[in-house]
Amino acid sequence: MKKRTGFVSNSSSSSFICEVSGACESGYDAGLSDFEMCECVNGHIFFEKYLLEGLDVQAVKLNLVQQAQKDLDNHDPDKVTPRYEGHTEALKKWFPECKEDYAKATAWLQSYEGDNVNELIDDYAEEFDEDSHVMPAAFCPICSLQHVQDGDLLSYLLAVVGETREGLTAKVQERYSGLDALDAEVVRLNKGTADAKGPVTIGKTNETA
Ligand SMILES: [Zn+2]
Repeated sequence: MKKRTGFVSNSSSSSFICEVSGACESGYDAGLSDFEMCECVNGHIFFEKYLLEGLDVQAVKLNLVQQAQKDLDNHDPDKVTPRYEGHTEALKKWFPECKEDYAKATAWLQSYEGDNVNELIDDYAEEFDEDSHVMPAAFCPICSLQHVQDGDLLSYLLAVVGETREGLTAKVQERYSGLDALDAEVVRLNKGTADAKGPVTIGKTNETA
């Protein structure tokens, strides 16, 4: 089974955590689509309702063509990527089939006449990759930074202030006796920020903010 972020499983039950809202869904013998959830190519999991809106069919088609082109390039024996290093012979064998797949996918996209983005993505997945309910990164609220995750925000913040996580953790542990003292300091510091909405904003999402 493919390893997924936020995915916990045993023989019969599955649970999925929406990385935008933090909500958890679980059930027996269930997949993402049973909960109206989906996954992007980079493994982010979220409810379908968070898929980026306002995308037109042409933009989606273009993105799918680019994805197919990338996939074809990855299998090109003349442009061996690190992933397939040392597998040139296998690539030579696979490449004709990959070229056929690419031609089929682009022809299918060119002749597709629907005007609904979600249906296009579903139809495409059904036509070319039956198991997949995987969305291109361009439509993922996390990849597109419409929803910025706390971890990504923290990485950015640490880089901006020139700290490491370890260094900042050590400072916090040294300066404050416990979480109460740390929270009180955050409240104090926030008072100096005109647009601070409250003492703790980490963990809030687009949904709850
Ligand atoms: Zn993503």
